Amino acid sequence: MKEIVKTTIESLKKNNIKAYYFTDIDSAADALLDEIVSDGVVGIGGSLTVKSLAIAQKLIQRGNKVFWHWLEDTPERQENARKEALLCDVYITSTNALTQKGQLVNTDGTGNRVASMIFGPKKVIIVCGTNKIVKDLDEALERIKTSAVMNAKRLGSNTPCVTTGKCTDCNSENRICRITTIIDRKPFQTEMTVMIIDKELGY
Ligand code: SF4
Repeated sequence: MKEIVKTTIESLKKNNIKAYYFTDIDSAADALLDEIVSDGVVGIGGSLTVKSLAIAQKLIQRGNKVFWHWLEDTPERQENARKEALLCDVYITSTNALTQKGQLVNTDGTGNRVASMIFGPKKVIIVCGTNKIVKDLDEALERIKTSAVMNAKRLGSNTPCVTTGKCTDCNSENRICRITTIIDRKPFQTEMTVMIIDKELGY
């Protein structure tokens, strides 16, 4: 395990957040399934990392109720999935950045993901590739600017960064960067686990 990962795991534990390390996606997906009871209701945030684990399909196959707006095909159903996920037993997502001090930093447009990470679900599991580990909050916010441009492109947003490839802290009505949260310690009422996978996952 790289020193940077070891430091991050130690910091997360000091922040009262459980932390585990995996060398590959399959063992992380198996451990993730083990963390969730078979009748648990599961919410999932918009996340390419979580998608790469194919965890939603595995949960549905074994009988878990899953609310993930990425599985829905109408705006109404997507909105319902976001709301149901706010009060689920387990919420699975990734993070935009994870500092070596064990802080989780995220920027949302709608806010359902960052809200669900903080309060509502009994347990939150964050899956994170080692590419998202940064030194400190400054680096985290810098990283988020870059990943937000990629996300704006993926979503086909009508924002200046899609054409220029750079964040200009725009004031576009379509701006996708609207809420930024920093989780410094485990929230009082939420069990929190971070699973670090030694891979490049998500933006
Ligand atoms: S603030 Fe605007 S320009 Fe910057 S990444 Fe977000 S949407 Fe793009």
